[in-house]
Amino acid sequence: MSFVEILQNQPVMLAAVCGLVGLIVGSFLNVVIHRLPKMLERGWDSQAAELLEQKNLPEVAKKLRAGDAGRYNLITPASTCPHCSHKIRAYENIPIVSYVFLRGRCSSCKAPISLRYPIVEAISGVLSGYIGWRFGLTLEMGGALIFAWSLIALTAIDIDTQLLPDDITLPLIWLGLLVNLNNGFTPLSSGVIGAIAGYLSLWAVYWLFKLTTGKEGMGYGDFKLLSAVGAWLGWKMLPIVILLSSLVGAIVGIALIVFTRHGRDTPIPFGPYLAAAGLIALFWGETINRTYLQLF
Ligand SMILES: [Zn+2]
Repeated sequence: MSFVEILQNQPVMLAAVCGLVGLIVGSFLNVVIHRLPKMLERGWDSQAAELLEQKNLPEVAKKLRAGDAGRYNLITPASTCPHCSHKIRAYENIPIVSYVFLRGRCSSCKAPISLRYPIVEAISGVLSGYIGWRFGLTLEMGGALIFAWSLIALTAIDIDTQLLPDDITLPLIWLGLLVNLNNGFTPLSSGVIGAIAGYLSLWAVYWLFKLTTGKEGMGYGDFKLLSAVGAWLGWKMLPIVILLSSLVGAIVGIALIVFTRHGRDTPIPFGPYLAAAGLIALFWGETINRTYLQLF
């Protein structure tokens, strides 16, 4: 039996392999979560500096440019400890294992390493393993993995920075349509309508809210994220995704206001709820929709 045949015939084996790949990807997602917002900020600074130079304000532009010396992307520079700049060696970078082995501390300066890293790796590993078990060795499995990994990165970035970067949301929309060219998760027509309806529904809520209260309830990134969910799963999944995310968002939001003195006007990122609801819809959306329709 070849390795591919083993994966085709042994769901547990496939789940284990997917789980391992998920752990390694999770480690890379940590880099994306940490660096992508900084890369974006550098880009914006540099654009602002250019504009300031055009407006004959070279002094201010110089200050902006001083911050972004040196190459900075997802690969360079190599990862270091934020406290002592100790260069992280390959064996210190093994998902979860290294964290446990190092007891959550930098090997050089003993500064604590954020629990976030192993948590992101574990979530990515578990979700990837489940996707392997659930979809089997199919094109949909590959798609579902990319969908889940993107949602993990978006969730953490939104929690950190209240941003849902276009660099992830927009490719996710195109990719969802591509995966559905041959009816991967939903017929292509449903994906196209889902992408448009997903964007427009939150866009409409945003403007209604803004015109009636003068406040901004969410950001344009949220519209693009729901558009991506619509492109991947089809328009029929949009009602439950909106319902689930609003429900959980409201519960968490009220809990935050009541228990942590979280200001009523401090924005609560909506992206994590949309992402979680998108994943629930990916796995159980059809079942939920069927149960729901039977009620009537
Ligand atoms: Zn250190």
